[in-house]
Amino acid sequence: MEKVTYDLHTHSALSPCGDNDMTVNNMLHMAVLNGLQVFAITDHNSCKNCPAAMEVAKDLPLDLIPGMELCTSEEVHVVCLFPQLDNAMAFDAYVHDRLPAVENQPEIFGEQRILNAADEIIGYEPYLLINATTISIEEVGGLVRHFGGICYPAHLDKSSTSVFSNLGYFSADWGFGAVEFADRARVAEFAGRIPGFDQLLVLHSSDAHYLWDIAQGENFLFCNNFRQALGLY
Ligand SMILES: [Zn+2]
Ligand SMILES: [Zn+2]
Repeated sequence: MEKVTYDLHTHSALSPCGDNDMTVNNMLHMAVLNGLQVFAITDHNSCKNCPAAMEVAKDLPLDLIPGMELCTSEEVHVVCLFPQLDNAMAFDAYVHDRLPAVENQPEIFGEQRILNAADEIIGYEPYLLINATTISIEEVGGLVRHFGGICYPAHLDKSSTSVFSNLGYFSADWGFGAVEFADRARVAEFAGRIPGFDQLLVLHSSDAHYLWDIAQGENFLFCNNFRQALGLY
């Protein structure tokens, strides 16, 4: 078993709330400087900065997992991770069709920058990405599996956009194999409300919107193969 440091929940400049300094190069180089071995970019309802990030990651000692933080119809955030870029981009196209056709207002919500591997802006996502999709919490697990990925509910301890804040309960029927907590000190508080908790992988990530918030090695798993431990093949 090997100790693997990771950060699986971060936002690039594509998320309206993500800082414009969260370019793919800045993020990945910060992750390497911080000693991380596995990293994921999980913008709200979009994977459109993953192609550039994957290209940058090729030259770095970092396993980059393409991802997304999906907002379900109940406004619950779910981290979705994919084994390959192709899986992620197919899911991205599917989610885009299930997002309300509401234009972003950059002066209110922030810009939604799509970047290339040189950090140049190659476009702006027109639809506001922080809206709820029409994908429900009941269907998200099966749907992400259909696209070859895995998913789990984000920041269960958060007072908004979490399973407990918005639904008040956790169902084993949703089929999640992992859970994410923002604050590891609060896991015990919620564990009793999660059926089959002992079988679930408990993950912590930074949810960074600024470069200085990216994890610095405090989140790790002991495993033989990190992707296998997550169920990503
Ligand atoms: Zn979130
Ligand atoms: Zn987030």
